[in-house]
Amino acid sequence: MTQRVLVVGASVAGAVAAITLRGLGVETVMLEKELVRAKPCGGAVPPAAFTEFDLPHHLIDRKVKYCLMVSPSGQETRVPVAGSVPTDDDYVAMVRREVFDGFLRERAQRRGADLIHGQLLGLSISAAGVTARYRSMINGQEQTLKADAVIGADGCYSPTARLLGLPHLPRAVAIQERIALPERQMARWEDTADLYLGAEVSPDLYAWAFPKCDHIAIGIGAGPRYANQAKRLLSNLKVRLGSALEGGRFLLREAHALPMEPRKQMAFERALLVGDAAGLVAHTSGEGIYWAMKSGQLAAQTLAGFLDAPTAANLRTYERIWWQEYGLMYNFLRWLQRWGYGNERQMEVFTEMCRNPDVQRLTFDSYMYKQMAPAPWLVQMRMTKDIIAAQARNYLHRRTPVRERLGLE
Ligand SMILES: Cc1cc2nc3c(=O)[nH]c(=O)nc-3n(C[C@H](O)[C@H](O)[C@H](O)COP(=O)(O)OP(=O)(O)OC[C@H]3O[C@@H](n4cnc5c(N)ncnc54)[C@H](O)[C@@H]3O)c2cc1C
Repeated sequence: MTQRVLVVGASVAGAVAAITLRGLGVETVMLEKELVRAKPCGGAVPPAAFTEFDLPHHLIDRKVKYCLMVSPSGQETRVPVAGSVPTDDDYVAMVRREVFDGFLRERAQRRGADLIHGQLLGLSISAAGVTARYRSMINGQEQTLKADAVIGADGCYSPTARLLGLPHLPRAVAIQERIALPERQMARWEDTADLYLGAEVSPDLYAWAFPKCDHIAIGIGAGPRYANQAKRLLSNLKVRLGSALEGGRFLLREAHALPMEPRKQMAFERALLVGDAAGLVAHTSGEGIYWAMKSGQLAAQTLAGFLDAPTAANLRTYERIWWQEYGLMYNFLRWLQRWGYGNERQMEVFTEMCRNPDVQRLTFDSYMYKQMAPAPWLVQMRMTKDIIAAQARNYLHRRTPVRERLGLE
């Protein structure tokens, strides 16, 4: 009997899961409700995604070589994007999701995965298999589909997780505007992406200005406590950017939720959750694209190995491997988010610490290449000394936040 897997959601996690399943000879069908509008996203992707998934560089709008960190008081730290061993491949890729997701989805189809334009409505799982009920987005009719297993790659609100009876995850909200700028204005962001810290733009995460081919994407992230203030925070960011946006033409405003916690369980009988559906977004950076692709790949590999016996116990191998591989990094990034974005004085310390070459190397090794090795003790001592000095400076002397000078709340 031919075994078949249903992948719900054909964005980054779903498309990579489908590509992987097809590569292992598994019949695969993707169910995707939205084939027109792009997923709202800053579109910053590490080079590891391009090398590990063999992606062509024509998907990249710009290769960012510097990150400009701006603290609540306006202190700036320009950080070169480089790991411990600098290479020509040190960059952060800026992509547009309408281009990136389309490429992955088409690759999955070229490798033989079917794509149904439909919305998942119901799911029943029994010893005999999986039955999904969906509404066709082409003719509006309800239909059913049978499969041996399902991968829920359907994002932060994951209908698959809901239909499995799981609770919602705590969510942050991110809102972004895309603005076309005259060339002379874009020059400022030629090879630089900005990150802004401050209570008026993002009390517990950060705000950004990410350059795309011919426009800038500016946005803010806000944790669950501040999600209802997202529009105000974005308008404050525009005030903070001031003349940099002059002459800009509004293109688009887009918003979506981001999970703030990974799910305790990501594999069940005949079902796995990946990407945002599993809560696999890195704290501190809000980075989810690489993790969605990576989890889609690992879940698909695990499932392909157990299709004859897709029990929860077998499929939980996926979870075990995931946390063995990435548990340390997730825990570190969660701690860093709480430490670095905890309040405005900490945000000042965080911005200062980004000047430390050891911190820069560790940050970019873990971001670009997803490697996290413990730093040698001498490096740890140097960083600790600098952190203590920066803490002392910022707690003894309060810097006036930009928001006070601009009269922003
Ligand atoms: C504003 C914003 C900025 C961000 N910036 C960055 C960034 O710069 N870099 C980064 O790495 N990450 C960023 N992220 C996070 C990143 O977008 C996500 O982590 C990533 O898209 C997760 O991929 P995914 O495939 O798991 O889910 P998604 O990309 O959310 O895809 C889920 C798919 O499931 C489909 N779906 C949902 N319900 C159904 C249904 N009932 N039936 C069928 N299909 C369904 C959806 O249409 C969608 O295509 C950002 C997020 C936001 C909101």
